[in-house]
Amino acid sequence: MSDRERGKVWLVGAGPGDPELLTVRAVRILGDADVVLSDDLVDPRVLAHVGAGARVLQVGKRGGRPSTDQRFIDRVMVGAARRGQRVVRLKGGDPFVFGRGGEECDALRAAGIDVEVVPGITAGIAAPAAIGVPVTDRRHGPGVVFVTGQNGADGRPPDWAALAQSGLTLVVYMGLANCSAIVAALLAGGLAGDTPAAAIAGAHTAAQRHVVCTLATLADSVAAGEIASPAILVVGSVVGLARESIPAAVLAARKERRASA
Ligand code: SAH
Repeated sequence: MSDRERGKVWLVGAGPGDPELLTVRAVRILGDADVVLSDDLVDPRVLAHVGAGARVLQVGKRGGRPSTDQRFIDRVMVGAARRGQRVVRLKGGDPFVFGRGGEECDALRAAGIDVEVVPGITAGIAAPAAIGVPVTDRRHGPGVVFVTGQNGADGRPPDWAALAQSGLTLVVYMGLANCSAIVAALLAGGLAGDTPAAAIAGAHTAAQRHVVCTLATLADSVAAGEIASPAILVVGSVVGLARESIPAAVLAARKERRASA
């Protein structure tokens, strides 16, 4: 970062958890930041890359818990950038995938602040990969959909019936709370009950857990497997490729916990 680049905001993707899944650019920009506004979902080990003199503000946003007002976040970023500070807005996964990155860019640009986006590895790709599931595989279909399990800004759920008919892998973010309703809507839309399905929680963190099942048994499996937020749901025949491929970092952390227990 040069001096010329003071008074600017970087929207940085923190990846799914494991700090080794940060980009080299994210690490460099975190090290140069004056102030970091971090989402709750960001793994604490990622924050170890923030330089010693920087201020870190937790501006949590997570289902069920009080979240920091978006206008407050925007105001802090604009104020710090106007004072010439290097501001990092750190978000889990990728800032432009269900991360409100677009809205924050709009607010910053409207205030005349320069913004740069540093992409991150999104949970929708990283979580399936953690159990050996490729989100696309040409032997299984033409592509993948990333969709939220929550209602949209218009108050309506996604068109599950159309998605059931799409022949695409369905990767559902924020889908746990509505899991039963999503399953019912996909079945009603004509997706077969024996379609392979999986839920992966805390992917690439020490708390990673997953279940592999079918669409018809997904809600029960999620409950029985104690799958908790944050979790990704995957529905589609690619889930048939699931392997017990728990990432090495997760295995090492589990071993460490067992040893110290
Ligand atoms: N910008 C983020 C997504 C934010 S929305 C990204 O690109 O990944 C929050 C949702 O992301 C959670 O409800 C969950 O569905 C998913 N998620 C985030 N981190 C996750 C992780 N480590 N494992 C599984 N799902 C995760």
